[in-house]
Amino acid sequence: MPSTSESCVKFNEPLMHQSCILGYHKIEVAPASARFVGLYVGRRSFCQQLKQLATVDATCLDLRSITAGEKGFVLTFDDAFQSVFVNALPELRVYGYRAITFVVAGKVGGRNDWDVAAGCVPAPLMNEAELKEWIKAGHEIGGHTMTHPWLSHLKMSEARREIVDCKRSLEDRFGVRLKHFCYPFGDYNKEIRDMVEEAGYETACTTAEGSIGHTEDLFALPRKMIYSRRYHHWIGQIIQKLGTSGQFRAGHLDPNQ
Ligand SMILES: [Zn+2]
Repeated sequence: MPSTSESCVKFNEPLMHQSCILGYHKIEVAPASARFVGLYVGRRSFCQQLKQLATVDATCLDLRSITAGEKGFVLTFDDAFQSVFVNALPELRVYGYRAITFVVAGKVGGRNDWDVAAGCVPAPLMNEAELKEWIKAGHEIGGHTMTHPWLSHLKMSEARREIVDCKRSLEDRFGVRLKHFCYPFGDYNKEIRDMVEEAGYETACTTAEGSIGHTEDLFALPRKMIYSRRYHHWIGQIIQKLGTSGQFRAGHLDPNQ
């Protein structure tokens, strides 16, 4: 297994001052029966990643700041899984990092039925009290539709309802303004993108891989999706590129620390 420093050199990209949106799903160790193991990041790995981000002096931002050109990273959690509340929230508190979770408005306190339909293990989603505590702790919630459909497969009127009702529903329920949206399954097209903008959101995240540049469409933001099996080399490289300390410090990337 090559060291992270070797992999990083091989990639031959600028090491410093990149900005990116990190995308997570569940923060827990994958159960043996899990179909998509990559959607799980264990709490220990997650904690190591936060520690590394702190070590390289990367700046934790919100989506508004990063799209305005500030350098750093944004922590996003798709679907508002309960494991994020249980395992990520305490770690975020330790590092003083703020995050956003994209909530499926019609499934608050329910489970990931859209994944179960694809053969995944059922997993609980945050309930209303947990989401209120999440917000009270300084974190944001964003829109992720009412039922987590493939939006481009729906009639236009149904897709619009999923996008608009999600915003209204979560704003009414939690008393916050929903500024950010995330496309379920990363599925969107020009019409869906425009609907999200017309609904009053300020940005929308995709699952397209990429860093944040200067000419980004605010409604087609790329992310770095963090999958557990990628951790040892890939996340370490990303974190190094986010650093502001001006040094490449491979010694901090030991995944066993
Ligand atoms: Zn999702």
